[in-house]
Amino acid sequence: MKAALAELMKKYTVIAPVMAEDKLVYAEVNEVKDIVLDNRLPYKSPKEVVFPRVENVMRFLENRVEEMQEIKPVLLVGAKPCDTAAMRVFDEVFTGDKGRFKDRFYSNRRNCLTVVGMGCLEKKPGCFCEERGTDLSFSPDCDGFLDPVDGGFVYEPLTGKGAGLFPGTETEPLKRRSPLTEKLVIHGKEADVFTAMPWETYAEGCIGCGTCTYLCPTCHCFNLRDAENKGVVTRTRVWDSCMYPGFTLHAGGHNPRTKKFERFRQRVLHKYLYIPENYGETACTGCGRCIRSCPGGLNIKNTVSDIMKRLEEKKNSEEAEK
Ligand code: SF4
Ligand code: SF4
Repeated sequence: MKAALAELMKKYTVIAPVMAEDKLVYAEVNEVKDIVLDNRLPYKSPKEVVFPRVENVMRFLENRVEEMQEIKPVLLVGAKPCDTAAMRVFDEVFTGDKGRFKDRFYSNRRNCLTVVGMGCLEKKPGCFCEERGTDLSFSPDCDGFLDPVDGGFVYEPLTGKGAGLFPGTETEPLKRRSPLTEKLVIHGKEADVFTAMPWETYAEGCIGCGTCTYLCPTCHCFNLRDAENKGVVTRTRVWDSCMYPGFTLHAGGHNPRTKKFERFRQRVLHKYLYIPENYGETACTGCGRCIRSCPGGLNIKNTVSDIMKRLEEKKNSEEAEK
């Protein structure tokens, strides 16, 4: 596999898990020996391959507008099932049939991306992929998959893009689906969840740092900024976070979410109610990054479990009253 990867590096920019100081991160790889394929989950998600933190998208010159994206073929290797499942959410939001907008800048990158996934052998503290319906040992959401066997890997192509990536794998692509059932979901009316839950308690420790959204593989909010230099205006897309106090600040000065509990409620309901309603996907894959890294100790899994418990109690008491 090493020789094949070295060959692929001539054709693709290869992004894979590598050590950066003391952290495992998805980053561009120049030497195959730097790639780390093991049970650990990289600190940040790989979403930057399709959704860079900062990206110049267009510029406005005196008489014309030019698109500025620089796209090259990217091969993402060693992506974990929680992170490849997150791409399904990105695809739905930015390009899916149910989406109201088609984001060309996203599609340009997505079309040039090939994803080779690999499973985890076991959960890490904070992971709750299986409760979220994400199979930790396999992902159908990639172009090919690496199955660990006897200290090495067997490569299984899953799409046409993935077939033939490694020598001898020019086979008919398979498309196995994960049979897991989602156990952690919110089935309730928005009104019941929006007002009747103890959001202030859930959000108590939040300091509004935005770490949870930056590390999350499915968070995709962004801002557009225009900057002028010598008569040329450059438009840049930059990540934003619904956990920042100024996220919903209107130009007229009104801010509908001034309190941290309102912002945390938006984050949870966006993932567990609004996106499922609009796109049929839950925008949380159970990677646990937001739980492991939150300086305030907030825990989305515990929050959703508590909401489910309260909704169940409400349902039972309503049925008992009938
Ligand atoms: S929930 Fe945690 S990680 Fe997210 S903004 Fe609040 S303090 Fe930061
Ligand atoms: S909300 Fe938290 S656990 Fe869920 S996908 Fe995002 S970072 Fe992972």
